[in-house]
Amino acid sequence: MRKIALHWQIILGMVIGVVVGILMTQFDGGKEIVQDWIKPFGKIFINSLKLIAVPLILASLIKGVSDLKDISKLSKMGGKTIGLYLITTVVAVSIGLLLVSVIKPGNSISEQTRSELVENYTNDTAKYKEEAYKQKDSGPLQALVDIVPDNIFGAASENKNMLQVIFFAIFFGIGLILIPNKKSKPVKKFFDGFNEVILKMIDLIMLAAPYGVFALLAALVVESPTIDLFKALIWYAFTVVLGLLMMISFYNIIVWIIIKKNPSTFLKGISPAQLLAFSTSSSAATLPVTMERVTEHLGVDEEVSSFVLPIGATINMDGTSLYQAVAAVFIAQAFGMDLSLGAQLGIIVTATLASIGSAAVPGAGMVMLVIVLGQAGIPEAGLALIFAIDRPLDMLRTTVNVTGDASVSMLVAKSIGKLHEPKVKDWDDDYPKH
Ligand code: ASP
Repeated sequence: MRKIALHWQIILGMVIGVVVGILMTQFDGGKEIVQDWIKPFGKIFINSLKLIAVPLILASLIKGVSDLKDISKLSKMGGKTIGLYLITTVVAVSIGLLLVSVIKPGNSISEQTRSELVENYTNDTAKYKEEAYKQKDSGPLQALVDIVPDNIFGAASENKNMLQVIFFAIFFGIGLILIPNKKSKPVKKFFDGFNEVILKMIDLIMLAAPYGVFALLAALVVESPTIDLFKALIWYAFTVVLGLLMMISFYNIIVWIIIKKNPSTFLKGISPAQLLAFSTSSSAATLPVTMERVTEHLGVDEEVSSFVLPIGATINMDGTSLYQAVAAVFIAQAFGMDLSLGAQLGIIVTATLASIGSAAVPGAGMVMLVIVLGQAGIPEAGLALIFAIDRPLDMLRTTVNVTGDASVSMLVAKSIGKLHEPKVKDWDDDYPKH
């Protein structure tokens, strides 16, 4: 029998998950069965991906940086990476602002729906606010201070502190470049082997991907709120989705023009990572697969992908920033506020920063939205309007976040001559392949 390609297996897993979820909500006790007997497998799958994230970043980044052999190469690549990440984020926020100003989804929310929703969710709003400001209220340079861990094991033990792990790995790699070859060789060899083991583990985890996403989606369906709420938000969701689609097209066009890779090759190469991003809503959990796909299927040298992607998963969230811009203006419209040009420019700046500050986990973008709202003087209670529909949008924006990271890694690789013919040409994935 011909083997079904991995991305089709994942899609099949998702569809069956949704169908099973819908069926199980039809009878008493069905929801509990899914929560008790299916959901845990989804959790196991996400845990195993997250489990790989820290060792993967450590091994591949240390190897990547030390392979560069000289510090100036590193700073050149670093500059390009950060620059491109900033540009794509600003493009995303601008697309979001443009669409939401033209479509005006907030105007379609009736006074009554608004007050009902806001009343129901005020407590949650307060909780989110507290969480977001906890991150913000600690002085202008706190973000910088947070990058440098005081204990590497402490940093590695919490998946929230990816930037700290990245910092340690780059620092360690620089140290490795600067010591004599004789001494650094065994250390490099160790991380080389370590890296291979991790890649093998990712292969094995991916064998379970179709089952994992099945469990995740079945649980999501039985736990999602009633359809009624969604109706009022259809225009808002439409605006976000349209913007996200435009972002995906933007990446494709850039990759097509600059790298001359046609969009279908690009999308086929990256699709398993996109599907995982969609089902897990977490760029961090998806990172191992993004790295594997970009390196093996899109031809980005490991030296580049191991540097650009972990940083991207943490700070580059184009989908999130676009969503934050749309959500902020949507809430303003729903409350009948007129935003001046200055306030809109402010949203570009704060949404860019808030997306950088968002953790690569489910729902983080909405927590950080509080800061965008606060800065623009938009009532935070408006968050209540978008709670109900946040999860599906989170799934989609995470997909865009991951696609953005992959595109930038290709651009950086191309610019320094590190984009090769992909190792795996036939993308009819056969796992395990290491
Ligand atoms: N879930 C997103 C991510 O991991 C972040 C967000 O909530 O927008 O990329």
